[in-house]
Amino acid sequence: TPLSFKNLAPVDSGFVFPGNHGSHNAQQLIGDALKGRVENVDQDTCGAGEEDAFFVADLGEVYRQHLRWKKNLGRVKPHYAVKCNPDPQVLRLLAELGTGFDCASKTEIEQVLKMGVDPSRIIYAQPCKTKSYVRYAAQHGVKQMTFDNADELYKTKQLFPDAELFLRILTDDSASLCRLSQKFGASLDSTNELLELAKKLELNVVGVAFHVGSGASDPKAFLKAIQDARFVFDQAATIGFNMHTLDVGGGFCGDTFEEMAAVLSDALELYIPQYVRVIGEPGRYYVSSAFTIACHVIARRTVADATLGTTSYMLYLNDGVYGNFSSIIFDHQHPVPQVLKCGDRFLYDARRSGYDTPSMAEYSIWGPTCDGIDCIAATCTFAEIVDVGDWLYFEDMGAYTKCSATRFNGFTDSHEVVYVSSEPGASALMGL
Ligand code: PLP
Repeated sequence: TPLSFKNLAPVDSGFVFPGNHGSHNAQQLIGDALKGRVENVDQDTCGAGEEDAFFVADLGEVYRQHLRWKKNLGRVKPHYAVKCNPDPQVLRLLAELGTGFDCASKTEIEQVLKMGVDPSRIIYAQPCKTKSYVRYAAQHGVKQMTFDNADELYKTKQLFPDAELFLRILTDDSASLCRLSQKFGASLDSTNELLELAKKLELNVVGVAFHVGSGASDPKAFLKAIQDARFVFDQAATIGFNMHTLDVGGGFCGDTFEEMAAVLSDALELYIPQYVRVIGEPGRYYVSSAFTIACHVIARRTVADATLGTTSYMLYLNDGVYGNFSSIIFDHQHPVPQVLKCGDRFLYDARRSGYDTPSMAEYSIWGPTCDGIDCIAATCTFAEIVDVGDWLYFEDMGAYTKCSATRFNGFTDSHEVVYVSSEPGASALMGL
């Protein structure tokens, strides 16, 4: 039976919130998994694709992030944003932990429902929806959905008049990595009109939603958004709606979580009465640090500069910006390359225990496709001379990576994931 949201171990009983990559135990597990998988590959004899890039996912990290959320944002029930990484084991763990889910399409809704999650735990958080998907949501009892314009209200009236609607409002997302408000969100000078139209159409508006932008960096964005949400709650009450839920969206990052959570909690306390249920739609926060990727060096070009008398190297990996490093383009990330295996030496553990050798050579790191844009890192240095057959790894590869990978140039968009768990709680739930 799934654990209820309240049923977890107390959060302040010895858990270390790592911010990043867990405890020594977690690092050991991840290192062993990387090593075990890489040792299985003999580049001189392996079949095509056996040396493909692969992930190691630490479900214990997802579990710790959940406890950290509960500790800092106890009033906000997380609805994991499936789009960020629809990994089936991550979804299963979160379903067991009792979170809700933010789905953006029919496929995401279907994936979550197939796990046996009750439709009331899903919010279809997409203000501009496909008509057939709305029919699908109606048929399957997924009632909660967002809107931000009049056309969507007419669509809802026609297809799903019983829907529980959240009015998504505009936010100031100027300090975020991925701005969403240029595409979605009703401005405060349009909310009254929208609410009046919803009333006229006899639709059921139950709450307000917002998103401060993915990868948000200014906690004050939450304060302003909460003040605006309160304004709309008051407008709605005047028009005769009994709104009962506030959706504070996503935008949380591991590095700044406590600071954001403090501002958000204070703002909720000040502006949002206790009877209002509060939900959130975190994506990146839950998965970013849980996934590490290992990539094989498939080719190397030596670049000798006769004038300067220097030698540098271009390394070509079997994954790139058209694959799991799509996060460089779409999510404005800068993944950091590190050497996993050089010749016979595994360096993951060595680095972890303070290995510190001066840089020897300069590299640029490229993906496998024919396109010049396929560059993972324009410049970096390693202490080793890396060659074909060696392996690099990149941490923090869980968010907006494999979900937006393509098959450009015939490369696979589906990479193996080796699952480990550095938390007994997650291991028990997942049978790991
Ligand atoms: N909710 C909505 C509606 C989104 O569009 C997104 C991301 O684009 C998210 C939640 C997840 O955001 P994040 O990964 O920043 O938490």
